[in-house]
Amino acid sequence: MYHYVSPLPPNSDNIREGLTVSPQTFRSHVEYLASEGYTSISLYEINTALETGSQLPSKPIILTFDDSYTDHYTYVFPILQEFNFTGTFFVITDYTDVQNPNHMTWEQIQEMSNAGMSMESHTKTHSTLVERSYDFLVWEIIGSIESLESHIGDRPDIFSYPVGRYDSTTLDMLDTTSIIRAVTTEYGVYHTMHNALLSPRLRVSGGMGVAGLRNLLENAP
Ligand SMILES: [Zn+2]
Repeated sequence: MYHYVSPLPPNSDNIREGLTVSPQTFRSHVEYLASEGYTSISLYEINTALETGSQLPSKPIILTFDDSYTDHYTYVFPILQEFNFTGTFFVITDYTDVQNPNHMTWEQIQEMSNAGMSMESHTKTHSTLVERSYDFLVWEIIGSIESLESHIGDRPDIFSYPVGRYDSTTLDMLDTTSIIRAVTTEYGVYHTMHNALLSPRLRVSGGMGVAGLRNLLENAP
């Protein structure tokens, strides 16, 4: 789980620092994964493998990027392509609709989708989904799915909870949608059909180099 992949802006606070991996560091991560024989897969592939028993590559890895920052297009996309990797990008659709300059445009999202990247839902506005009405959840979640579908042509069936938060109403509502897997910010790598809507991830934090990434992967529960 990555957030910002960009040079650290001047006067960044601790939160921004903790969420930022530099493009050079990110490139060294992907180079390391490629040299170690990892193959990037999507959450669709893992879901199909769990459902049908289809074979996955021997060292599968899913790279996810939350919040649809412009730097995902500027830095992440070309580096993934250089190493023949793919990524899963969670898009906040209203930020794109209002052309927020820090977030990707629909043209960029379409280009990445056409190149084989998974462009998935991270709601319309990135509001918390905890203690919300059913109608609000429909608006945030279905609204973003429909918006993405209308722009990229495929319906996104993967979801990421804003700031990793959800409650039983969120899960009940998601269960009625076409979403097949949803990711949290909880720590882990174990995917089953039982945690389809609560798939854990490993957080790549700011300043984590290749040694840190290796440590994270090798000690993952
Ligand atoms: Zn987010």
